Amino acid sequence: MPSVLFDNIGELLTNAGDPLSDAAMVVDGDLVAWTGPAAAAPDCDERVDCGGAAVLPGFVDSHAHLMFAGDRAAEFAARMAGERYAAGGIRTTVSATRDADDETLFRNAQRLVGELIRSGTTTFEIKSGYGLTVRDEARSLALARKFTDETTFLGAHVVPAEYADDRAGYVELVAGQMLQECAPNARWIDVFCDAGAFDGDETRGILQAGLDAGLTPRVHANQLQHGPGVQVAVEVGAASADHCTHLNAADVDALAGSSTVATLLPGAEFSTRSPYPDARRLLDAGVTVALATDCNPGTSYTTSMPLCIALAVREMGMTVPEAVRAATLGGAAALRRDDVGRLVPGARADLMLLNAPSYLHLAYRPGVDLVDRVWRGGQEVTRG
Ligand SMILES: [Zn+2]
Repeated sequence: MPSVLFDNIGELLTNAGDPLSDAAMVVDGDLVAWTGPAAAAPDCDERVDCGGAAVLPGFVDSHAHLMFAGDRAAEFAARMAGERYAAGGIRTTVSATRDADDETLFRNAQRLVGELIRSGTTTFEIKSGYGLTVRDEARSLALARKFTDETTFLGAHVVPAEYADDRAGYVELVAGQMLQECAPNARWIDVFCDAGAFDGDETRGILQAGLDAGLTPRVHANQLQHGPGVQVAVEVGAASADHCTHLNAADVDALAGSSTVATLLPGAEFSTRSPYPDARRLLDAGVTVALATDCNPGTSYTTSMPLCIALAVREMGMTVPEAVRAATLGGAAALRRDDVGRLVPGARADLMLLNAPSYLHLAYRPGVDLVDRVWRGGQEVTRG
């Protein structure tokens, strides 16, 4: 592969030190080979003139539910007209997903992946969780694997209607046969530990079974009300506790003293008109924070990391540098990846060129599509 010089970069955010002005970067194959002042750039086979615009690492969306069919626009409209969100709305999507053929599920995910990439996301996670039968969870993960290695088994999303009188039976299925059939196509296991979903003991048991099957835990924790989710996440060594909206001091301390990332999903609070998590409190306590979209048809039907950055800055007390870092390096930490989320020699050449002179414009110009061009593994995947 030819080496490529990205030249005339107005501002290069590497996530290793301060942003560089008048910078250049060399990509060799699928990796970053060099970054530094434009004046010191080495010769390369090809050149991309960045026109004085900002370059930064591709976003890492560590929390997305892309395997589903149908949508819930009417439910959203009703909620905006005053109805309150409860976890049970998931069952609407479960019915549609079970009824859909593989082609329909694949094409819907492909459409959403296209949206993610066009808005600057170069690494993304995909969860199952709208099948809730052995067959439907297994095929959801097999299809998800066609798009990403960051696949998450979420059989414990809610208890499906047919198990309403036999919770224990469903937990046993998830931790047993369903897990065994899903594990070959999953890297992670996740549980929705919250009111209307799974309690602390159920969560602990399912995550432990996942660990025994070689998967690593992540947890939907403390979204709808205070509960045991964060404590269980830390206890089992989860890579990430996601949502973290309702935390007490012990939860913040537990996260700060652990390697568990707090992944904040402001698209969910925005779309459900709910109170936002207090990112400032987590950051001040030393917790590693990630931002992700939570893209799902019920409570956060967005694929836009720039929207999440703008919300985090406006509503959650994050500075712009903190929010962009959380959307790149933070997401990488939540997926336990050190090859993405930064532009340093040896990292994957996953990056975007903005239609703006500084990455600060990502929050400064909300709702404006500033992502001009995107590269994944050194290959351009857009042409703006
Ligand atoms: Zn979620």
